[in-house]
Amino acid sequence: MRVVKKFGGSSLRDTERVRAVAAHIAKAHSEGKGVVVVVSAMGKTTDELMRLAHEVSPQPDRRELDMLLTAGERISMALLAMAVRDLGVPATSLTGSQCGIITNDRPGAARIVEVRPYRVEDALTAGHVVIVAGFQGVSYRREVTTLGRGGSDTTAVALAAAVGAEACEIYSDIDGVYTADPRVIIDAHRLSSLSHDEMLELARAGAKVLAEDAVAWARLNRVALFVRASDGRPGETLVRLDPAEPHTGVVGVACRPDARLWTYPSGLRTGVLARLTEAGVTPLIDTVAPGDSALLLVARDVADGVDSLFGSLCDQIQATLGEAGSLSRGTLVSVVGTSVGRDPHLAARFDEVLGAFDTDAPRMSQGLTRSVIVDPAQADAVATALHDALVHKER
Ligand code: ASP
Ligand code: MG
Repeated sequence: MRVVKKFGGSSLRDTERVRAVAAHIAKAHSEGKGVVVVVSAMGKTTDELMRLAHEVSPQPDRRELDMLLTAGERISMALLAMAVRDLGVPATSLTGSQCGIITNDRPGAARIVEVRPYRVEDALTAGHVVIVAGFQGVSYRREVTTLGRGGSDTTAVALAAAVGAEACEIYSDIDGVYTADPRVIIDAHRLSSLSHDEMLELARAGAKVLAEDAVAWARLNRVALFVRASDGRPGETLVRLDPAEPHTGVVGVACRPDARLWTYPSGLRTGVLARLTEAGVTPLIDTVAPGDSALLLVARDVADGVDSLFGSLCDQIQATLGEAGSLSRGTLVSVVGTSVGRDPHLAARFDEVLGAFDTDAPRMSQGLTRSVIVDPAQADAVATALHDALVHKER
């Protein structure tokens, strides 16, 4: 049996934790499993590298930025491999490029197009634990690329699919997927399971626990995900293949800061979408509203996590729309659930809850999500009220 285990930066933030992860891995290996481990950069290393880059250049060259950022995960993989070997377990570390993660060539936000895991297979066959640097790959032109913030999750899922792993386990300092951010909403509770579709919409809506691309890969390749705490606390969330009984109602509430919504005449839509495609951006919401207007919503990290790029993208959209588009900006607050898009009662309750807040921003339903943009100062209160009113306590 093969398993892919991914450890986030907080689980590797110092050498003591690196050794604790090594012990976990050695145990799985001793149980006879073929173990592939995907690591993130230690602690806040990626932020720190990003800061250094901006210190030497206000707009760092994208190629060189990728070169720099991939170093973070390399540090983790090498240290972890040393620690595992120290426990008498054979281990080999591999970069994204070495383990055949082939991406397109969009720097900073590359997409995995294929995985050729030959070296991973060889190392597993030789009985080694394979430790892979997450968040990175190589393009067909042999340029090193990064997969966007949180991209190590995507590496883990893509490898799990490529080596036919039984499970993909995501370890971090949080013990599962919650109905909302438990640091903000005290009543938030852990979900024992949810579907890929629900998880994908939660990630798009801003839930930080899993990267959106990772969930999309998992859904496409039918990979089950277990989200667990790395300190061994009991409890987990399973993002499952087939919802045995799809949940009705609302599975969670999520917020996404710095969202921009343009309402504009639908006649301009083709031109606007062409511009977004050029920039390689998938809008969060693109829909035609009643009365011949179109709605377009983008949020900061769709523009690959670099604020200056997001700003210039928004300027471009604004320039395309000119006077014709009206802009609301703020925090996007969304509720997610299988029936949310098609249950008029849920939509009515959502609007009722918002009635208590001073906002006339448009409400948007798309897929499994209903959302609104609110003043950032109100966002936590709106999210809490929606959670209280709409999330089932027993889930
Ligand atoms: N180290 C990268 C980041 O901080 C990738 C990851 O953690 O998944 O975004
Ligand atoms: Mg993460």
